[in-house]
Amino acid sequence: MSLSEIETRIDDATRKAGRAREDVTLIAVSKVQPDARVEAVLNEGHRVFGENRVQEAQGKWPGFAERFAGVELHLIGALQTNKARAAMELFDVIHTLDRPKLARTIARLAQEMGRCPDLFIQVDIGNEDQKAGIACDALDDFVTECRGLDLPIRGLMCIPPVDDDPSAHFETLAAMADRNGLDGLSMGMSADFEAAIAAGATHVRVGSAIFGARDYD
Ligand SMILES: *Cc1c(COP(=O)(O)O)cnc(C)c1O
Repeated sequence: MSLSEIETRIDDATRKAGRAREDVTLIAVSKVQPDARVEAVLNEGHRVFGENRVQEAQGKWPGFAERFAGVELHLIGALQTNKARAAMELFDVIHTLDRPKLARTIARLAQEMGRCPDLFIQVDIGNEDQKAGIACDALDDFVTECRGLDLPIRGLMCIPPVDDDPSAHFETLAAMADRNGLDGLSMGMSADFEAAIAAGATHVRVGSAIFGARDYD
């Protein structure tokens, strides 16, 4: 597949859902992809990208950002507290705020740096023991805590359990955002971004469907 095909499918999905195209941001997930593939997508005019590791992004994006104006970078992978400063320096948006300690660290650094990326709270929507994300039943208190820290919380993010029908989880996340007065919904990947758009996604994170399969060797 390609960027233009994904754009067409997003157009169709938003139209079907009766939503405006500009209400959905396509994050092209470039983790692990060779530079040549990323550069091809930049040359097509796309500027919004997602990475899941701070270190990998540090190696790759400052160079691209010098050559291509208007790059917007989203961190979509787990964030260790000791990498928070580096992440805040590099990323425009962090989708993986998922625990009080990290919230307090980001708040302290934001004071120090005088700026803070937009933040999404990652929710462990399937209540999976091993999965990142704040527990569903702890979410509302966590949103309140983050607001008390003056953090710019824009919305919620989830990765549904692989074996489940994602739509029910997307609907649940949308309801959680709604009851917390949050507009942003970061949900939907290559296999299910259309279902996510139907459920109200504002940010879809699409990797392999744009760039091809990731080669981890
Ligand atoms: C890798 C990744 C994606 C993109 O996955 P694809 O299936 O390649 O579209 C989306 N979100 C997160 C959190 C990821 O780690």
